[in-house]
Amino acid sequence: MTEFTLDLNEDQKQVRDWLNGFAKDVMRPAAAEWDEREETPWPVIQEAAKLGIYSLDFYAQQFFDPTGLGIPMAMEELFWGDAGIALSIVGTGLAAVGVLANGTEEQIGTWIPQMYGDANDVKVAAFCSSEPDAGSDVASMRTRAVYDEAKDEWVLNGTKTWATNGGIANVHVVVAVVDPELGSKGHASFIVPPNTPGLSQGQKFKKHGIRASHTAEVVLEDVRVPGGCLLGGKEKLDERLARAREKARTAGGAGERVKNAAMATFEASRPAVGAMAVGTARAAYEVALDYAKTREQFGRPIIDNQGIAFQLADMRTRIDAARLLVWRASWMATTGKPFTSAEGSMSKLFASETAKKVTAQAIQILGGNGFTREYPVERMHRDAAIYTIFEGTSEIQRLVIARTLSGMPIR
Ligand SMILES: Cc1cc2nc3c(=O)[nH]c(=O)nc-3n(C[C@H](O)[C@H](O)[C@H](O)COP(=O)(O)OP(=O)(O)OC[C@H]3O[C@@H](n4cnc5c(N)ncnc54)[C@H](O)[C@@H]3O)c2cc1C
Repeated sequence: MTEFTLDLNEDQKQVRDWLNGFAKDVMRPAAAEWDEREETPWPVIQEAAKLGIYSLDFYAQQFFDPTGLGIPMAMEELFWGDAGIALSIVGTGLAAVGVLANGTEEQIGTWIPQMYGDANDVKVAAFCSSEPDAGSDVASMRTRAVYDEAKDEWVLNGTKTWATNGGIANVHVVVAVVDPELGSKGHASFIVPPNTPGLSQGQKFKKHGIRASHTAEVVLEDVRVPGGCLLGGKEKLDERLARAREKARTAGGAGERVKNAAMATFEASRPAVGAMAVGTARAAYEVALDYAKTREQFGRPIIDNQGIAFQLADMRTRIDAARLLVWRASWMATTGKPFTSAEGSMSKLFASETAKKVTAQAIQILGGNGFTREYPVERMHRDAAIYTIFEGTSEIQRLVIARTLSGMPIR
């Protein structure tokens, strides 16, 4: 029987320290510049690729860590370095996970290497699900995929939005509707290979935070992809659709149930976003702690005031609590425990709200300096705002938790 422990093992400590070194020496010095430029930090991604930090192998190794802590630990360190740059480094992983989760071995072997490229010619990938009218409400997706049997091709039409790396990606993974009657059960994912005609970048968004990460619309106009680009293959899709139709028929009015079931997914991936939030929160807390110990007013360090010291105590307590929730959910995902109380959503909700709160407190503790771009906490606060929005907003996390606890459809 495994003894209970929260200690990291030697391998984990080594990886953590290695990532921390990269975050401190490479990411942090570049953070302010790429935030101002609002561009993808290609040289930093290339450096990460040279070291093996930007590669499927690295994330696969962390993913298969039997304790479940590999991914959260990696995310925390990279986002402690800088959230915008870190998202540019891990953004490709979103698309890669889409292929790993649904693709055949052949699709995984063909497309994932093209998503990352190599250290001399780095590439990125994009996962395109959100649409202008389908954000939280994924079932309202309109992008259509229609099968052209004569040519064994799928034809994609629609507009995706908010895609990280959208339009600059070598490989796009696009979620589209194949059967509009089935809500999110009628969706399928497609690879759009490099330089496919009909795929173009729409608006590139100018953002509040994580500005070193590229976010854009992706427009699909009669985009034709080979039949082999349907992730998982046609046979599997037909079987899945037949099962969903049967379920919808027997459940009666199952559209809503199908939607509810879709809301309850993502439990396993949400802790990773929670870990990103913990990284940003920890970074801001550390700056605030140092500042409070050295900044003197009224003849003593400001930390000597309980008003400041108690804030730091609360910040640190929340960060540690957030990390524990993230670790629990990641451990549950890895060890196959059922998320009976939506523990994945809980971890993301608490960690993301913590990051927003703690970064705001850090600005307050730094006073006027906190409000300037001379110090990093204002950037961290802008960056932290994303965690309560993407991969399901805080409201959606609460909805999922409440539905899971009550067993009732909550609108
Ligand atoms: C920087 C950035 C990067 C992103 N990257 C990607 C990506 O790579 N790929 C991708 O597919 N998507 C991506 N997204 C999209 C992201 O997942 C969505 O923005 C998110 O799901 C919310 O959707 P929305 O913006 O349409 O907001 P909406 O769904 O319109 O929500 C607006 C507000 O209404 C609230 N709300 C909605 N429904 C309910 C309800 N039932 N009950 C209570 N409140 C509700 C929300 O919580 C929110 O406060 C990204 C977004 C951003 C900003």
